[in-house]
Order: sequence, then C-alpha cells, then structure tokens
Amino acid sequence: MKTSEYMDKTETNVLHTYNRVPIVLERGKGVHLYDTDGKEYLDFAAGIAVSVLGYKNQVFIDALKDQMDKLIHTSNLYFNTAMGEAAEKLVSISGMDCAFFTNSGTEAIEGAIKAAKKYAYLRDKNTDHEIIAMNHSFHGRSMGSLSVTGNDYYREPFKPLIAGVHFADFNDLDSVRSAMTDKTCAVILETVQGEGGIYPASEDFLVGVRKLCDEHDILLILDEIQCGMGRTGYMFAWQGYGVKPDIMTLAKGLGGGFPVGAFLLNQKTAKSSLVPGDHGTTYGGSPLACRAVSSVVDILNNENLVNHVRELTPYLEERLDELVDEFDFVDKRRGKGFMQGLVLDGIYVEQVIEAAAKNRLLVISAAGNVLRLVPPLVITKEDIDDMAKKLKVSLTDVMKAQDKDSFT
Ligand SMILES: *Cc1c(COP(=O)(O)O)cnc(C)c1O
Repeated sequence: MKTSEYMDKTETNVLHTYNRVPIVLERGKGVHLYDTDGKEYLDFAAGIAVSVLGYKNQVFIDALKDQMDKLIHTSNLYFNTAMGEAAEKLVSISGMDCAFFTNSGTEAIEGAIKAAKKYAYLRDKNTDHEIIAMNHSFHGRSMGSLSVTGNDYYREPFKPLIAGVHFADFNDLDSVRSAMTDKTCAVILETVQGEGGIYPASEDFLVGVRKLCDEHDILLILDEIQCGMGRTGYMFAWQGYGVKPDIMTLAKGLGGGFPVGAFLLNQKTAKSSLVPGDHGTTYGGSPLACRAVSSVVDILNNENLVNHVRELTPYLEERLDELVDEFDFVDKRRGKGFMQGLVLDGIYVEQVIEAAAKNRLLVISAAGNVLRLVPPLVITKEDIDDMAKKLKVSLTDVMKAQDKDSFT
C-alpha cells in the first residue's frame, strides 16, 4: 500500500482527535524509526517518553515472545507466573511497599486517587475529602485524571468533574499551603512536569510539600509516569530530592512500549486503603504486561542505563544550550536528564516539529511553545550530535521560511 493510502484509511476510519505528522512509521531499530518510504528518522520522541530501550531490543523481544508462547492473559482471579516478579522488582528499585498494575497512565492516576480517598475515609469516615493538584499539570484524559489536570482547555467541556479539587502553583509552597483545608486528603504532582512545559520541581518545593503533608497526615502522590524509569538520571525523579511519596504512579517507560501502568504504595497507605472489592481491572497485570515490566527493569539495571543517562546529560544540555545561544527565538532550556525542553519565542513549536521531521528528526511539543526532547535512554554521544545537527538545520529552515516580524 502507498503511504498516502495508509494515511487516507486512517483519516477516514479513525476518530479525528490528533493532527498527525504526515509520515507513516513502519519499523524501528535502536534509536531510529523507518517510514513506509524507507526513510530513517532519529527518534528523540520515543513514542512520548515511552520507548526507553529504543526499538528491537532483542533481549526484550525474546522475553515477550517467550511469554506469548506460554500465556498472554488470565485475569486477576488467579495468580500468574509474571506478576509477583514484576511487582517485586518495582518494590525493590523504589523502596515502596507494593504495586497495583494498570494498562495505562491515566488508570494508574485513577487508582492512586481512589487509594488516597479510601485512606482518608477509613481515618474519619467523611466523604468530602479534597485533593490539591498543580496548575499546568497533566495526569491523563479519563474523568478522575482530568479532574486533577491543571489545564482549563482540556477540562472545560467535560465538567462537572470530581468535586473537591483545588489547584495550587507548582514550585510555590505558599500556594499549596493556602489550598490546604482540614478536608485535604492528598497532594498530587509530577516530580518533573511534562506536558505542561518541562518544569522540574525545585528541591525546596518538593521537600516543603513533603513536610506539609507529613504535618497534616496528607498523602503525597508523585506522578512519575513521564519522568520515572530512569529518564532524569534517577530510576525515579524523586530519588534525586531526598523525599519519598506515599503513592507513586508509573506508565510510559514502564513497559518499554508495551502498554502497562502501575501505582505503588508505601506501607502506611497499603495497609489502610484499597481491599478486595474496592478496585480492579480485567487486563491489568497480565502475564505479558508484567513480563515486559520485568524485562525493562532488568535491562535498565544490567545495562546501567540510569547511570548512562546521568553521564550523558551534561553533553546533551551543552549541545542544546548552543542552540539557545545561536538562535534568537530559542529562549532557554529547561529540564532534567533526558527530559529536556527548549522554550521558543517568535516561532511556533509546530513549525519546528514539521521542519525537523523533514530533516529526519522526531521531536514533540509541550505546552507553552516548548520543544520537548525525550529520547530513548540508549542514545549515544553521536546520536546527540546528530540530533543537534538536524535541529540546527531545522531551526534555520524555519527562520528562513518566516519573517520573524510576522509572528504574533
Ligand atoms: C502521559 C501521562 C499521563 C497519562 O498517561 P496515559 O498512558 O496517556 O493515560 C499521566 N501523567 C503524566 C505525567 C503523563 O506524562
């Protein structure tokens, strides 16, 4: 089939909720993707911070194939051979107490919210508990997750959402303090805000929120769906702050491309929250999904990939900072590890994404006209050089194509 036919078939038959870049991806290898015309793209998007191992990692694929030959699905009515092991690995690398597996990030958030509400309910039997979430946050598209997502544009048409959510300003402890009431049961935030524009939490803020939560027996939910699994140079971003959440959510990188999410609880929360009958999922924690999780954790550990991220980050930052210096309309760089944003001013991020795709580089956007770079964790120094070269050409292309004064 021709490239245009794949696109037509999709546009005709799939609900139009995405304006897609006009390329049809067919296969991947390492940090490269290939389209139906055989063109090679350097991938600094990783399927939105998902494909941490890159593509066609043979160890990962062999593990999945082996599991597919044995058993794909059983439901949660029985034990399976893969779930305990995956959970044990997550508990071991996080120091949390236990895990619940979901199929996506938004479901992990739903479960985390329910666990927090149940914890507060068991404490005082009230049913009017409140949650504090952050402005510019993103936690997913289902109704509960949308209720704690600090973006009016995403929320407005779907109101009423769940009641009792107050929004505070990220990295502003006073703002969190003034949102607290005696009904607050949880504070939820991303350790590094992703979709909202790549804002890392400041250390003062995160330590301060943890302390506030401790003082009032409020649960701290850290959403590590995008920044977790090694991306920031720590297995979980909070490990770089000396704080620990009561509940943590994971997805994206967790399955290396296989759809799986999880929320993990500390002992205090696990002992006094969800029990049989409170929560469940048909698919969640399937043998195949859990085998993917175990394999990803093993490969991250065996190949020392978290350390690799930490070692290569200064070089990535240096190459991006060169672009900030060189181009007037690249205002600044923000980020942590392999989760970086270039703040643009004077050109639209969509123009850069389009130009980059033409120059065989895949990058994505974040809110606030930010160019987001979230590559597979396996990129090398040479890949960073190649990215910098392609991005420089792309930025030049955009500059040439447009008179800067015409930007509004
Ligand atoms: C992507 C994302 C989600 C939602 O995950 P889905 O798998 O798309 O439901 C939630 N929180 C954060 C921080 C994310 O980046």
